[in-house]
Amino acid sequence: MSSEVTPFRFQDFDFYVKRDELLDPLLSGNKYRKLYTLLQTPSETYNTVISYGGTQSNAMLSIAALCKQKGWQFQYYCKPLPPHLKQQPTGNLKAALDLGMQLLESPDYETLIPTLQSQDKTLVIPQGGAAPLAEQGIKVLTDEIKQWQQEQSISKLNIVTPSGTGTTAYYLAKHLPNCQVLTTASVGNNTYLMQQMQQLGSLPHNLKLLEPSRKYHFAKPYPEFLETYQTLKQSGIEFDLIYAPKMWQTLLTNMQTIQGTILYVHSGGLMGNATMLERYAHKGLL
Ligand SMILES: *Cc1c(COP(=O)(O)O)cnc(C)c1O
Repeated sequence: MSSEVTPFRFQDFDFYVKRDELLDPLLSGNKYRKLYTLLQTPSETYNTVISYGGTQSNAMLSIAALCKQKGWQFQYYCKPLPPHLKQQPTGNLKAALDLGMQLLESPDYETLIPTLQSQDKTLVIPQGGAAPLAEQGIKVLTDEIKQWQQEQSISKLNIVTPSGTGTTAYYLAKHLPNCQVLTTASVGNNTYLMQQMQQLGSLPHNLKLLEPSRKYHFAKPYPEFLETYQTLKQSGIEFDLIYAPKMWQTLLTNMQTIQGTILYVHSGGLMGNATMLERYAHKGLL
């Protein structure tokens, strides 16, 4: 399954967008790519998948959808939940629980996580799917991009995508050595992101981390993120409210340093927008 590329005009600049958000409503964007290998794996290979992380994570919901499809049990470790969320799960958490995910709250989360290990028919997927397991699916994405670039006769191509763990940007750069891959950190700063990516191997020379104009906390509502989200949507494409606004803002402030065509790889995550919009409304920003 290949995703289409759409021309996208935003703030008087011309871009292209690789529409990976259209691949699947739950297994969307880079999560579809990162879990591609497992989507192709025969169901008999595993009976249980274990992962861990935040309780509104897009990766969590995508793994829940994968496990439902495959008939695998899904155990997800998290830190103890705030009582209101426990009583009434919302958003991605509710959706994942409805898909059969077993949520395991762990008071000693930090010491427990490093002890988790894959064995026999149990597979451990690190937080956010940050693992070599993700490479094959992202390679398929880069094959699609190479073919499109050739069809369009584009000589100088820049690829842009936001980073959480940096897994997507890392493998994009590795398999598109003739393109510049631009990203920015959504979790922590670029120094932290670089350390995360180095766990996958040495940093490709064509991978560039763009510096945002200010510091933001991950997954918090910011009026300017909402505004960017709304302007993007009015320009014709809906993006997520956590990763994309910061990436687009950072990209726009760096436009004068970028030469050639820009292809933004949509990273999906639209299923988390409803809860984020509720938080903006709750803060009186909407
Ligand atoms: C998971 C996610 C990312 C981050 O992907 P990494 O490969 O961890 O860098 C970016 N955007 C969206 C919408 C996501 O859900």
